[in-house]
Amino acid sequence: MERSAIFPKSRFQEFFDLMQEFGDVFAPRRVSEKSFSFKQVKNPSEIAFEALRTILPPKKFFFQQRETIISYDENGVRETKPKVSPQVLFGLHPCDLAGLGIMDKVYSASPPDPHYMARRQATLLVGLSCMPDKHCFCKAMGTDSPTSDYDLFLTDIGEDYFVQIHTPIGLQMVGSKKELFSGSDETKSQAFKDFWTTRDQAFTSHFQSENLPAIMDMEWDNKVWDELGNRCLSCGNCTPVCPTCYCFDMVDVASLHAQAGERVREWDSCQFVGFAKVAGDTNFRPGPVDRLKFWYRHKLHGFEDPHGLPTCVGCGRCTESCPAGIDDIVSVVLRLQGKPSVLISDRTTGATNSDCCGSDGGCGSGCGGCGSTHGSTSGGSPGCGGTDTGGHPHA
Ligand code: SF4
Ligand code: SF4
Repeated sequence: MERSAIFPKSRFQEFFDLMQEFGDVFAPRRVSEKSFSFKQVKNPSEIAFEALRTILPPKKFFFQQRETIISYDENGVRETKPKVSPQVLFGLHPCDLAGLGIMDKVYSASPPDPHYMARRQATLLVGLSCMPDKHCFCKAMGTDSPTSDYDLFLTDIGEDYFVQIHTPIGLQMVGSKKELFSGSDETKSQAFKDFWTTRDQAFTSHFQSENLPAIMDMEWDNKVWDELGNRCLSCGNCTPVCPTCYCFDMVDVASLHAQAGERVREWDSCQFVGFAKVAGDTNFRPGPVDRLKFWYRHKLHGFEDPHGLPTCVGCGRCTESCPAGIDDIVSVVLRLQGKPSVLISDRTTGATNSDCCGSDGGCGSGCGGCGSTHGSTSGGSPGCGGTDTGGHPHA
């Protein structure tokens, strides 16, 4: 299904009211001079239309950072039902829609995850066009156009929004407010085409992604991994900010009298030193080089499993948030391809593991340099190198 409509920007309030009829509206809001976060909005004036990438991707609405899965006491074990209410996510760019598409594949695969699916099914997705900055490379990953994972997608064509309608519920939204929408005409259709042509030419970070998985296989022992891995702080910043990092840990929290407790699922990161640690004190990926290379493999090659696809959608969040300036995927790929490349991040600190704050795990930041086995996504410390979010991403 693909239909289109037009509505004037000057009547955005009416479009906002329409979204509110379908659920609570969440959209990018400015939370600091340089950063944005998806938060509930009650008025269009709260929306940061200029936001390119939010600190955390929209996965946080479906795959929650921490949630109780089951609880138990002397009366038995109970499954925790997710609290769900209708919601509309507004302002998702093509990379984030593609990221959610990958999350959907993983969490809807048999057996589907009831928590993720319940929230996903209660959510409408309204996308919004954007112009790339120096960190965006969705074009290289083939995720630069809205894919099938949206209900409506708005393209800014000047005085109007061009609306792509992709699902029956999207059509229902538009049909329920016929007075707001009109059909496209030749001028507006041309404006739509011109926007996407201009956008295509605006990318400054790019590489040819053909045969990338083969190159990742071929370059497994490339010295770039040692070079970058030895600068990695194992802080884990690159995983919560990634729209497709879906790993979690399970923690059983028992009461002191041990007769009640709960099983909690929380985000984990393959960059943490304890992620691949198993009984007998064996660690499959003991050093930051092993872990960084493994993370890059998942992003650019994919695992050999039913979801074995590259999972990077080119959003640039990891590049922007890495305190060591080494998650510069475009530069790394160019080097693996044997092309001239330097790290383009203008925030490179040259930090190494030894630059950790040295608080021996007590800081709670879990940057890993101190040897702590697990980190936290809710704190932050100067030892993490500092990001726009003041440490680990938490919005
Ligand atoms: S954000 Fe950078 S320093 Fe931190 S774990 Fe990822 S690659 Fe390493
Ligand atoms: S690997 Fe980096 S650029 Fe790619 S989707 Fe994840 S955060 Fe975005």
